[in-house]
This record gives sequence, C-alpha cells and structure tokens, in this order.
Amino acid sequence: MLTVAVDGYSSSGKGAVCTKLAQKLGVIHFDTGAIYRVIGLYVYNNGIDPHDENAVVNALGEIKVELKHNNGEQVTIMNGQDVSRDIRQNIISDICSITSPYPKCREFVYSIQRKCAEEYDLIMEGRDITSHVLPDAEFKFFLDASVEVRAERRFKELTEKGQVVTLEQVKADLIERDRRDSHRELSPLILTEGTYHIDNSYMTIDEEVELMYKTIMGETE
Ligand code: C5P
Repeated sequence: MLTVAVDGYSSSGKGAVCTKLAQKLGVIHFDTGAIYRVIGLYVYNNGIDPHDENAVVNALGEIKVELKHNNGEQVTIMNGQDVSRDIRQNIISDICSITSPYPKCREFVYSIQRKCAEEYDLIMEGRDITSHVLPDAEFKFFLDASVEVRAERRFKELTEKGQVVTLEQVKADLIERDRRDSHRELSPLILTEGTYHIDNSYMTIDEEVELMYKTIMGETE
C-alpha cells in the first residue's frame, strides 16, 4: 500500500498540491482539515459557542460525515448535504481552529481517518499526519511558505470568492491560527525527523508536485 503523509500551515498550498499529486499517482486525496471544518460548520450553523467545549462535544453525536473521492478531489458531505464549499468560509477556518484541539473532536476525526488509511492507497493531508496519525507513512512531507506569501494566497482566494476582507486582517488571522495549531497540547503541528521540508514560497504548484512525485517514484522504483 502507498501511504503519503502531508502536513503544513494554513494556506501552505497543501490542498491544491495534494489534489494534483493524487491525480498523478492515481490514489485518494484525503483532506483531514475538511472534517475539522465540518465540526466548525455544524457549530456555526447551530449557534453553538465554539469556546464551550461541552456544548461542542455534545453536538458531535449529531454530525454524520461522509467523504467521496473523485480524481484527486474530495467531496465532503455533512448529514446528507454536500458542504464542500460552505466549509471553506473564513469564519469556519477560525471556528474550527478553536474546536480542533478538543480531545473528543480529535477522536471523532481519527476514527474516520484510520478507517480510510486501512482501506486505500492515499495521500493524507492535515496538521498531525506526519507526527501522529501516520508516523510510519512511506513518504512524509511538510509544506511551508512565508506568512506574507500565505496571506497573499489566502487573500486572493477569499476575494475571488467574493468575501470582503483586508490583507492585514487575513495575515493577522493566519498568524493566530498558526499559533493555535502549533501550540496546542494535543498533536500540534510540528516538523518531525524523516519528513521532507519543502518551502514553496517561490515555487509553482506544478514544480512542487513534480518534486514530490520524483521523491516518491525515485524511492519506490
Ligand atoms: O487544513 P485546513 O486549513 O482545512 O484545516 C482547518 C483546521 O483544522 C486547522 O486550522 C486545524 O485547526 C485543524 N486541523 C487539525 N488537524 C488536522 C487537520 C486540520 O487540527 N490534521
């Protein structure tokens, strides 16, 4: 079985790169952040305070997540509804980085992750995949870019979707989410030994995909 684990900060380009790499390798692209986002979306839609851990944990029993994988793309379904677009809203990014450290939320996502990793060849992408979920993956990558470059990317993505934001606000939000993701107690985002560290600040998506593909093929041939 081929298992590729990928971690990286918000807007480090993981999603686009992993989609293309999965298409090239003919494997599933499992975006684990999408499940944390589903929890955030449910919390938001139901007016639950994300800082109220008990209320969030109580809601987990009401959430059913299904994932469909099609040519590198992941379709995320919450309680029978395709929420792939809704979970990308800026407000959901913030809410889910508040709720993702809760141990019960992490368990909820782990159970879905484990099942998928046992069944399929895949690229699994997130914050704790190389360090915690799949530490023995054949290939492990940590994708990185400067905070300025990531803020520009995120700003472009949000404004293209019609969301009204300023570059300064996007950058401040990213810094805060980076802080939460890398300083939480349970499985924080860290660079572990044996993980390829790629700074993609000045790389195109295709160059990065090629680099990862060659790394994988070079060592699997
Ligand atoms: O990757 P994405 O930005 O969609 O992830 C959204 C949030 O979900 C992250 O900011 C992080 O708090 C959480 N997450 C996590 N562990 C993962 C993937 C995502 O805690 N493996």
